[in-house]
Order: sequence, then structure tokens, then C-alpha cells
Amino acid sequence: MSLNFKRTYKFAFKSAFYITLLSVLFIGVLSYFTFFPESEKLITFLIALAISVYIISFLVIQYRVDFFIYKKIKRIYDDVSFLESSTVINGPITTDIATLTREVKKFASDKRMEIETLKVREAYRREFLGNVSHELKTPLFTVQGYLLTLLDGAMKDKTLRKKYLQRAEKGVERLVYIVKDLDMISKLEMGDLNLNIEKFDIVETVKNVFDLLEMKAEKKNIILSFDNKYATPIYVLGDAEKIQQVITNLVVNAIKYGKENGFVEVGFDILTNGKIITRVKDNGEGIEKQNIPRLFERFYRVDKSGSRSEGGSGLGLAIVKHIIEAHNGKIHVQSQYSVGSEFSFTLEKAK
Ligand code: ADP
Repeated sequence: MSLNFKRTYKFAFKSAFYITLLSVLFIGVLSYFTFFPESEKLITFLIALAISVYIISFLVIQYRVDFFIYKKIKRIYDDVSFLESSTVINGPITTDIATLTREVKKFASDKRMEIETLKVREAYRREFLGNVSHELKTPLFTVQGYLLTLLDGAMKDKTLRKKYLQRAEKGVERLVYIVKDLDMISKLEMGDLNLNIEKFDIVETVKNVFDLLEMKAEKKNIILSFDNKYATPIYVLGDAEKIQQVITNLVVNAIKYGKENGFVEVGFDILTNGKIITRVKDNGEGIEKQNIPRLFERFYRVDKSGSRSEGGSGLGLAIVKHIIEAHNGKIHVQSQYSVGSEFSFTLEKAK
């Protein structure tokens, strides 16, 4: 590797000056009392001595410093740049030790930061793996349990056979649901999300979601509606498919955690900063204050027992947050325990 060295002569200049000063003083005093008692000859001798000592020591010191830098410090640079080629050797290498110290310190602090990031990532990976296996375990064991019971003889009983197969099917459905969410969240967290930004009518998107979730809502006799008549389209900029996923997750939650005979209401507001805010409101179970800050974390659930009838992957809101943030939008939640919740998010208004 050819390294670009920037020479500095300051060190050699100064050192040569001190050596000259001391040697001229010393030899001057010594000579005065021994060889040259007449001062005229002595001064000429000392001038000649000073010039030669200065030149010789300057050359020797500069040569030694260069040699030292090339041999020793270059090796440090080489070792350091061997680890990371882009950090230290970008600028010219200098014989100035202060600069070298600064650069090595910078290198060390960069490395420390890199190590911290790697540690965080490793902890994240471990936690993610733990959560994934935990999420998959329950439905997997349920399916296995029903299948084993069937094989052990329950399949001879016609009614039991149907019942257990239906339950096993429900377990598989849940597995598929979790795997799909996992796939989505890992893509989102790896920054693999290719947004296809276009202009679309968000009122239409909400209508589509209502159509898709009508049956689910009917099971709890929940009414899906708008808070107003939106007769004209409201155009926003975003990835229509991903935003539909966001609205679906929010409406699914509003139904899941909604009361029987309740409602889910969607509304829009145009903000002065050129954004559109979409609100999804329900009169369901609500969320206690202390749980609100953690809602958007992966796998976070208010009810940790897992025994409740409505169980998702715990990834729904994490996915929502990622998608909205990828659109440079903001997500907000307001909730009152046992009164209801309102989730809202912003998107860029299209012209
Ligand atoms: P899950 O798959 O458990 O629904 P989410 O990420 O979608 O995961 O939601 C996280 C938690 O937030 C839920 O477990 C639930 O306790 C709470 N939550 C989400 N939406 C609502 C809502 N509309 N009303 C009450 N609680 C909600």
C-alpha cells in the first residue's frame, strides 16, 4: 500500500536549534579558556561551528524522524488501516505525533461505536429469535396436540374428528398469520421496504378495508363507519398497498379489542402543513396509560397470558409504525381504559 506522507520540519528545526545553542555555548566557554583566548578568532570559530552543527543535526534529526515515521508509525497506520481502510488513511499521513494521536483516538472511538452497534444488533437478534420461537410454539403444539389425539383414536368418532380437525386448522391459520407478520417485520427492519409511492384516494382504501373486514366485525356486531360523509376523494401520497395494510391492522385491532355491539369509526382531517391525518376510533376495552408507550414494540401485548380469545402476533402495531415512518409520517395513540382508543397517523397530501 502506498501511503501519502506529509513531512513536517518543525521538530528537526527546533531540535537542531537547541543542540546548536547548547554545543556552541559549551564549546565556546571551553575554548575561551583553552585554545582561543583572543575573542576575534573565537567568534569566527563559533559561527562556523554553529552553522555546521546546525546543518548536521538538522539533517540527522530529520532523517531519523522520517525513518522512525516510515518504519514505526507507518506500521501502526498499516495495522490500523488493515482493520478499516476507510477511516485513518483517508488524509495524508503526517510526521506530527499530535495528528497521529488524534487520528488513532478517532479510530478507537469509531471502533467503539461500531462494537456498541454490533452488540445492540446481537441482543436484538437473540431477542427476536426468542420471541419468534415463543410465538410459534403455542399454535404449533396446539396443532400437534389435536393431530396426535386424532391418530390415537379420536378420528374414529365422526364428530370429534371434525371438531379437532377444525381446531387444528385454526392453529395452522394462526401459524400462517404469524409467519406472514414475521416476514413483513423482518423486511421492514432490514430496510428492505421498497415503497411504491403514488397518488391514491385514502377514502377508497378505507372502504376496501371495511369490505374485507365486514364479516369479522359482524361476528361481534360491530359497525364499521366513517365519521362524516366523504363525498369527494382525499388524495394522499404513499404506497397504497402498504397503507391498506396499516388501516387493516388498525381496524382489525379496533374490532379485536372492541366491545360487542360497538363501533369502529374512521375519519380524516386536512392539516395546515400539507398533511392528512387518518383516525381510527373504537369504543372498545381501551389501554391503560402505563402500556401506551410500549404498544408499538415488537411482540408487545397488554395481555401477556396468551389465553385470551383474540390473539395476534403482537407485531401488528410494530408493522404499522414502520410503514408510517417509512412514509415520513407520524403515528399517535389516545386511549382511555374501558372507554375506547383512537389511533391516528399522518400522510403527505397529494396535490
Ligand atoms: P396483537 O397481535 O397482540 O394485536 P398489536 O401490535 O396489533 O398486536 O397490538 C399490541 C397490543 O396493543 C395488543 O396486544 C393490545 O393489547 C393493544 N391494542 C392494540 N390496538 C388496540 C385497540 N384498538 N384497543 C385496545 N387495545 C389495543
